Amino acid sequence: MKTQTLHLTQRKACHPGGLSPRLANCHPEVLRGISESSHVRDPWEYLGTTALWSVLVAFTLLAGGCSNLDGTAARWTGPTAAAPVATETWSYNQRDGTILKTPHYQVHTTITDPEVIKRLPQVLEGAYAQYQSFAAAAPPNAKPMKCYVFSRRSEWADFTSRHTGADAAVYLQITRGGYTIGDWFVSYYVGENATYSVAAHEGWHQYVARHFKGRLPPFLEEGTACMFENVRFPSELPRWDLSLNPNRALGLRNAIENKKLWPLDKLVTMHAGDVVQLPGDKIEAFYAQDWAFARFLWEYNNGQYRPAFKKMLGEIAAGTVYDPTGSMRRAVAAWSPAGVQPMLEHYLGKPLKDVETEYQQFIRNVAYEQFGHQWVAKAS
Ligand SMILES: [Zn+2]
Repeated sequence: MKTQTLHLTQRKACHPGGLSPRLANCHPEVLRGISESSHVRDPWEYLGTTALWSVLVAFTLLAGGCSNLDGTAARWTGPTAAAPVATETWSYNQRDGTILKTPHYQVHTTITDPEVIKRLPQVLEGAYAQYQSFAAAAPPNAKPMKCYVFSRRSEWADFTSRHTGADAAVYLQITRGGYTIGDWFVSYYVGENATYSVAAHEGWHQYVARHFKGRLPPFLEEGTACMFENVRFPSELPRWDLSLNPNRALGLRNAIENKKLWPLDKLVTMHAGDVVQLPGDKIEAFYAQDWAFARFLWEYNNGQYRPAFKKMLGEIAAGTVYDPTGSMRRAVAAWSPAGVQPMLEHYLGKPLKDVETEYQQFIRNVAYEQFGHQWVAKAS
């Protein structure tokens, strides 16, 4: 089974069946990418699937002492203390539930597993701190962001039908996962780790919707969201290493080997609506490459582009981003995909074709030399 997520940043603009990706206010994600394999408690669970040979190759490299697999153990970060959580009773369709109130979130849930009730708000608050350090937000808005995490798909489907109008037809196609509308998200329990991963991914969309005046290029918003998916609990508090996402690394490797890679000049213009109808391997490639590009901006060549990436994020958030089309400075406006390439070239200081040469080198490193590390790195 695959976990799917879907998010709309402005639901009025979405037209199921007649989706207009150029508006980019609709983000119909039908992800093969956020699959259960990215959320497995133990990567060994994934063995026995098509990944087996790839993992074995990677472990062969590991056994050979590949030096590229070393030196990343100290990158796990997370909260040093649990966020305060107040609880209130809630109910949905006569089913008892709970509202988990934290400084930035109101999590409405019908999940009763005490472990999940304890950890889910810590995932969201921990992820919020990750988002903040990644892209500093404007002064905090005191209004908490709403999340609905149901214990059963049937409750989620009922809620979705009642609250998303005509767009429900799109959302209800999700067979496993959730979606974000504006600054609230709705999901249901899909296994403990997968539920946390979906929350951390959707939380980035919430954060951007709440705090950014301008539009983050859709492919880059997705790629960044994917960087937060790999949540681990080595103890009572969540941990992230933004370089790690084994499932995305596998998706990248599959895309390379099956010759499904999108050219970078095409990828940067894309929006989830462009791939929603395509075969799963093209969708998987889209998200894996988005993830790899966000990582590339963050850490290529010891962070060569990180200052430029941070500057760009800050100026998008402030609504002052460089964009010759002028369409990216307000998230509510229709956007011009043609603005993304000149925007990237402006901040990175070189033509995109030169960036692509480096990107191609980077993704092959992720998919091969670093592949084993993605699977064996232990959170601390
Ligand atoms: Zn997403």
